[in-house]
Amino acid sequence: MYDVLVSGGGPSGSKCAQILAEAGYKVALIEKDVNWRKPCGGGCSLRFYKYYPQLKKLNIIDKHTIAMYSADYSKFQYTYENYNDYSLVMDRLELDNFVRDIAIDAGAELFDRNISFDFIYKNKKKIGIKTKSPDGSKEFFGNIIIIADGMSSKLALKSGLRKKWKTEEIGVAKCAIMEGNSQLDEETIYVYFKPYMGFGWIFPLGNNRFNIGCGTFYEDTLNYNLNHIYNDFLKEPNVKEYLTSSNYKVIWSGAYSLPGKGVLEKRGVLEKPSDEKVKD
Ligand SMILES: Cc1cc2nc3c(=O)[nH]c(=O)nc-3n(C[C@H](O)[C@H](O)[C@H](O)COP(=O)(O)OP(=O)(O)OC[C@H]3O[C@@H](n4cnc5c(N)ncnc54)[C@H](O)[C@@H]3O)c2cc1C
Repeated sequence: MYDVLVSGGGPSGSKCAQILAEAGYKVALIEKDVNWRKPCGGGCSLRFYKYYPQLKKLNIIDKHTIAMYSADYSKFQYTYENYNDYSLVMDRLELDNFVRDIAIDAGAELFDRNISFDFIYKNKKKIGIKTKSPDGSKEFFGNIIIIADGMSSKLALKSGLRKKWKTEEIGVAKCAIMEGNSQLDEETIYVYFKPYMGFGWIFPLGNNRFNIGCGTFYEDTLNYNLNHIYNDFLKEPNVKEYLTSSNYKVIWSGAYSLPGKGVLEKRGVLEKPSDEKVKD
């Protein structure tokens, strides 16, 4: 029996498991994979260092400049070296393993290769999670259940916390990690806005590697074929300007969905209880 079950060992679930384990709770971190590279640009804000000071040991190249291309190919470049705010880029395979290991070091118990698919109920109350693993079905029991298993979460739907995504609420994106000589500046991130409601990026990763990808938003997900726009994107003049070689080694590539409507406009605010309520 655990104090807390966390379904999903991505950045959210791992951080959550770490904080709770450090606070002395018995935590089970349930993750469907062992080494899954989430399709992602891997661009993070500087705040990541605040939550993971251990990252500094990895000597990641900080990005102090952004080059943005509008849909009509106009370029805007800005360097924010003098501001105490910049970005960093990481390979998601490395990042996710890194944050998961920190949760384990904090005392969370990791159960990888476990796909959570349903709740266990007692008197209509959720008391645990059922998983499928290579060793067969498993049951985990906990006082608190946290669902952090991403966009395609089955538990989020079953809990009633979220409804099925509507088409106009999701975007899709395809990206790759490539290797080879380029004209990319290692300290710059490159962002491209497309004539339709789409976007593209090139994020240098260091060691001649870069993450390149593009995606769609809203109803354009239905109107455009992701593979076509990805292939067109690779041939764009403003991309070719940097990727001058005719042959880049594709280390990995993948496509995935993402919430296409941005962050919630209204965030839930926890109300501080009045003194009277506290007395009650
Ligand atoms: C192509 C693309 C590019 C992106 N680029 C960026 C970017 O550059 N910068 C940025 O900040 N954000 C980017 N994002 C968004 C970013 O990837 C997500 O915001 C982030 O990964 C969310 O973290 P999470 O921990 O909530 O979920 P996830 O990272 O999705 O983690 C969920 C975890 O749960 C596990 N899981 C899933 N189902 C189950 C199950 N049934 N049982 C057990 N475990 C399960 C998964 O294996 C995974 O480890 C991008 C997204 C996409 C698709």
